[in-house]
Amino acid sequence: MAWTERQHRLLAAMGLRLLSPPAAEGTSPAQLPVAEPAPAPVAPRAVTAADVAVSAAVPAAADRRAPPPPADAPGAGPGSAAAALSALGWPELREAVAACRACGLCERRTQTVFGVGSPQAQWMVVGEAPGEQEDREGEPFVGAAGQLLDRMLAALQLTRAQEPGTPPERQVYIANTLKCRPPGNRNPAPDELAQCEPFLVRQIELLKPRIILAMGRFAVQALLRSDEPIGRLRGRVHRYQGVPLVVTYHPAYLLRNLPEKAKAWDDLCLAAEVFERPPAG
Ligand code: SF4
Repeated sequence: MAWTERQHRLLAAMGLRLLSPPAAEGTSPAQLPVAEPAPAPVAPRAVTAADVAVSAAVPAAADRRAPPPPADAPGAGPGSAAAALSALGWPELREAVAACRACGLCERRTQTVFGVGSPQAQWMVVGEAPGEQEDREGEPFVGAAGQLLDRMLAALQLTRAQEPGTPPERQVYIANTLKCRPPGNRNPAPDELAQCEPFLVRQIELLKPRIILAMGRFAVQALLRSDEPIGRLRGRVHRYQGVPLVVTYHPAYLLRNLPEKAKAWDDLCLAAEVFERPPAG
């Protein structure tokens, strides 16, 4: 079977060389054009107590879908804060994030990083946490990883840009699991993720995407409640609140592990295929 034009664009965008023709739709990862052996994943740095300055109580695991109590909301307990957040629209939610001081990451942020893209977008990308450049610019996925993501999306004719005339099915909304940068780009701490997650939950509720791409371990943990490695979760379709969800590697990881790009390409093709499927029934 010949490569489709879209597959060629995607391969080119991801810097992949075509070594052999694909067999068919659903080709196994082993048959994909991986040129070099994959290096071992980079081990996460340990989070020390000194890294974390928690300023608010951590909700129990069962309460993680409840919105975080804004630290400066007078008299707001978890229940009332949950109700308040679930009633917010996009502008109010953005303001709530900007004002949030529910975890210690507020102390060293330049600004919060809410998300980017059209609120009508039918695709959603969920990443992990802002890095230095994101913290400076207030937008997720900027810098080299962001450029790689944009090239991958463009290969599928998708964009985060809110250009007039772009149909919702070609638009992507991008948000991180964590809205403030962890110092030194360390891994997010569990309590920070728990405090921040309700903002992401509300973003998904408002957006109502047709498909979600979860990029990286912490996005997957937040959305699927799974500690399994990406390598064991990718390659199949999961569900988040009924929305199809595809797991893939974070672009920053792909930049350090070039052979994994072939797998990410496969994941994107899977997501596109699921997106284009006619609704059941
Ligand atoms: S990381 Fe999230 S929960 Fe913590 S201060 Fe920032 S917005 Fe609030």
